[in-house]
Amino acid sequence: MNTLIRNGTVVTARETRAADVLIEGERIQEVRAGIWEAGAARVIDATGMCVMPGGIDCHTHLDMPLGGTTSSDDFETGTKAAAFGGTTAIVDFAIQARGARMRDALDTWWKKAEGRASIDYGLHMIVTDLGSSGLEDMDGMVLEGVASFKLFMAYPNRLMVDDGAIFKALSQTARNGALISMHAENGSVIDVMVARALAEGKTAPVYHALTRPPRAEAEAVHRAIALAEMAGAPVYIVHVTSEEALREVREARDRGVPAFAETCPQYLLLSIEELERPNFEGAKFVLTPPLRPKEHPPKLWEGLRDDHLQVVSTDHCPFRFADQKILGKDDFTKIPSGGPGIENRLQLIYHHGVNAGKISLNRFVEITSTAPARIFGMYPKKGEIAAGSDADLVIWDPQAPYTISAKTHHMRVDYSMFEGFEVRGNARTVLSRGEVIVDGGKFLGKAGRGNYLKRTARGGAWK
Ligand SMILES: [Zn+2]
Repeated sequence: MNTLIRNGTVVTARETRAADVLIEGERIQEVRAGIWEAGAARVIDATGMCVMPGGIDCHTHLDMPLGGTTSSDDFETGTKAAAFGGTTAIVDFAIQARGARMRDALDTWWKKAEGRASIDYGLHMIVTDLGSSGLEDMDGMVLEGVASFKLFMAYPNRLMVDDGAIFKALSQTARNGALISMHAENGSVIDVMVARALAEGKTAPVYHALTRPPRAEAEAVHRAIALAEMAGAPVYIVHVTSEEALREVREARDRGVPAFAETCPQYLLLSIEELERPNFEGAKFVLTPPLRPKEHPPKLWEGLRDDHLQVVSTDHCPFRFADQKILGKDDFTKIPSGGPGIENRLQLIYHHGVNAGKISLNRFVEITSTAPARIFGMYPKKGEIAAGSDADLVIWDPQAPYTISAKTHHMRVDYSMFEGFEVRGNARTVLSRGEVIVDGGKFLGKAGRGNYLKRTARGGAWK
């Protein structure tokens, strides 16, 4: 069955042009002005609309166990919410348990996604323990399409690995072509600051942020990049939040080092003041790394514009306020850290980036779709509008007004970090591999139709 999207403005990372898009089955067949396909089974009129590659969110945590609870969106509710917001692929994280093989974690996460995901999904592997078989496991993961790994410099005794392990893992990717992502915060120092705060009776949510200062982030970014340089491998810094950390990335890139970095809407649009909200509501904004003082977000926007930052992901990791965030009522260290965002990324970045004149429309497509596709080994199957690419498309209404609210969102969580935000620009029709899965606010997809994305090594970070 073929589908013709007519009269729209096709927007890619490279160009903006009036063109029709012909889809044959799951793939794009042709892109040019004036396609006349009398036999098209379905014609979608996109007059006044932008036709863009579907969003790719390369940092999500669906159905993720954390400190005795689990993130509140699973692969069904999370991917459905993503689809409503114009996102057609995600890369989530499988977590290796210490002492266990990575293969076990991959099987566990495949099971979580299977039968539930309504859009395509890839998986990064979080490495917590190299043990005696870790490096070999990494090679095995690459063969399964897990072309990227994440290591933590924070959370000692839980997720953190030492510099030697990071260096070994980076060196392994120099051979197998995978990409290492780093959660860059100096966890050992942060733990001391946290213990001091608790000893002084400082238990409120805001101390979560105050015990994880920007310098702890910047120091770890610097160290991560230095380790990558010594290993001869590229490195990707997840969720950069501060000017200091950004400066480390920029300095490395200026020297020609293949360092890449992302930020998230919350770090671009919110600040530490949210954590001071009364009635424990600050807990809704307990994220790691934390929200920063107001002077940081404008620097991150500049970083996105100037390509010091390459990607906007969400770090979607929702916990309900009523019965999950509340676990930390008397101790900020017990607040499950993370927030919801998978549904609103494109709306927020379009409105506050493109409408506000901070980034171009093409740059918007690049940072929300094309760059993550390239960097994480999905390009040009994903993140592009060209013959042969998957027909993952969002037909975007640049004029549509929308108010973000927990009352109307599709994420399975009882609050929004962006409650009451009014934006202009929203997904009207969303296609995943040629199938309309969202149209005019209605979900037409099906749980389980999403495919596991086998990603290839030596992606964009290596070129
Ligand atoms: Zn994360």
